[in-house]
Amino acid sequence: MAKKQFKAESKRLLEMMINSIYTQKEIFLRELISNASDAIDKMYYKALSDDKLEFNREDYYIKITADKAARTLTITDTGIGMTKEELDNNLGVIAKSGSLSFKTENESKDGHDIIGQFGVGFYSAFMVADVVTVTSRAFGSDEAHRWQSTGAEGYTIEPAEKAAPGTEIVLKIKENTEEEKYDEFLEEYRLKAIVKKYSDFIRYPIKMEVTTHKPKDGEEGEFEEVREEQTVNSMVPIWRKNRSELKDEDYESFYRDKRYGFDTPLKHIHLSVDGAVNYNSILFIPSSTPFDYYTKEYEKGLELYSNGVLIMEKCGDLLPDYFGFVKGMVDSADLSLNISRELLQHDRQLKLIAKNIKNRIKSQLQKLLKDEREKYDTFYKAFGRQLKFGVYSDYGMNKEDLQDLLMFYSSKEKKSVTLDEYVSRMPEEQKYIYYAAGESVERLEKLPQTELVADKGYEILYFTDDIDEFAVKMLMNYKEKEFRNVSGGDLGIEETETKDEAEESSHKDLFDAMKDVLGDKVKLVRASKRLKSHPVCLSSEGEVTIEMEKTLKAMPG
Ligand code: ADP
Ligand code: MG
Repeated sequence: MAKKQFKAESKRLLEMMINSIYTQKEIFLRELISNASDAIDKMYYKALSDDKLEFNREDYYIKITADKAARTLTITDTGIGMTKEELDNNLGVIAKSGSLSFKTENESKDGHDIIGQFGVGFYSAFMVADVVTVTSRAFGSDEAHRWQSTGAEGYTIEPAEKAAPGTEIVLKIKENTEEEKYDEFLEEYRLKAIVKKYSDFIRYPIKMEVTTHKPKDGEEGEFEEVREEQTVNSMVPIWRKNRSELKDEDYESFYRDKRYGFDTPLKHIHLSVDGAVNYNSILFIPSSTPFDYYTKEYEKGLELYSNGVLIMEKCGDLLPDYFGFVKGMVDSADLSLNISRELLQHDRQLKLIAKNIKNRIKSQLQKLLKDEREKYDTFYKAFGRQLKFGVYSDYGMNKEDLQDLLMFYSSKEKKSVTLDEYVSRMPEEQKYIYYAAGESVERLEKLPQTELVADKGYEILYFTDDIDEFAVKMLMNYKEKEFRNVSGGDLGIEETETKDEAEESSHKDLFDAMKDVLGDKVKLVRASKRLKSHPVCLSSEGEVTIEMEKTLKAMPG
């Protein structure tokens, strides 16, 4: 039986596509710039395979011009251009990508920097324009053609004049309506910001004519308006540069430019990974806690780029919650993008990258702890609480990753120590890792229950953060040593100076009287073998300590 071809109501399809695949109108500029960059790349690849052709970088650029009075925005490139047939095929057939064909034909050469693949990005221009006019002259031809369309109604192609090869796209920007505003796409500062946001790392200059204020010659304090052409994008992504050429300051200014934070980062991690999935990444460990860090408003995530073009501003899946403080970016050509380029089709590559990144962060933090303790202390002050939450959450699934990064204040060292340091100092006969929980170090220093353990010469960890004890309960033990609260039950210490049973019973009347007075406030009053210089202490039995009880009571229920 003869197969029938699907027919599509192309008018409807185009409308649907234009209005539903993108969440933000501003990305039309990203799409048109990406196409212009691809067109220049094609010239570059052509030159690679053709000895007679020279590729002079200065000749290749993208230019954006806004004309408020005429309501037009023009994007010009000096790329490979399009013939009449190419205009017809590439701009007249939805989902036809000349760039994808170019890539597959040139697989052997390195066409991998080409961005286009879906054959729909161009139509995003109709989100902001009533009329789109494309004038193009293909490289090697002296004819030019003009393609024009108002969107769903179809398009026309006619001969045109164009002095040099390349493409010029003129958008007639829509009028503002009650609900939708379009004027911003004619504002220089806005256009500049959009270019910076998505297309900063396009490898060819993106030029824009802008108005600047310059000091007037000879006249102090006087300024004059000057029109000048500027290159808006930074072009060379720092992550593609050779690590040996980069200094700390370069990373720091990247951190500031990208507004990852207002602080100076403690450490940067620069990764170029070739493996199951290829990617470049620059990660930062900030030195101070963002003001909203421990609130619901804080959104973790890294910037995600595909071939240097921004896809997602905050990709949360790239970071585990417990490393949510890490800032930075990932660029990979291996992502399978969804057609809008705002989402990913599969997260297989992303999962691999995330796992890899997690391990790198972990090992870099361990290195910081080992080699630059002061910096680690700063880090821990800012984000230690997050690590402890990390141990406690997800049913302790991440404790292996995090336990060596934890620190607690030591009664002996009078500063924060790691569990490893604690355990390695333990005398042979010491059975447990001891801790005391309370409001502050000063208070804990005076806690009666610490005396017996301290007298033995054992170190005690002071838990002053309400999450501390919860985290440790989740760990259960460290290097096979269990944790013990000095206020808890069995401390594994021979309590030699036993006040004998007789003493207990000889004070029975006193204890009963005390219990009568205190009533429900205490469960039991009895003699303690643990006290030395203090007459009395409070203690609890069972899993939940007094400090934990306080925390639980304070939690919103
Ligand atoms: P994609 O870029 O994913 O291929 P687009 O809809 O953005 O899809 O563009 C469709 C095709 O039109 C491109 O693949 C390319 O062949 C052609 N094209 C678009 N813009 C230009 C341009 N400025 N110069 C040359 N060719 C272009
Ligand atoms: Mg495109």
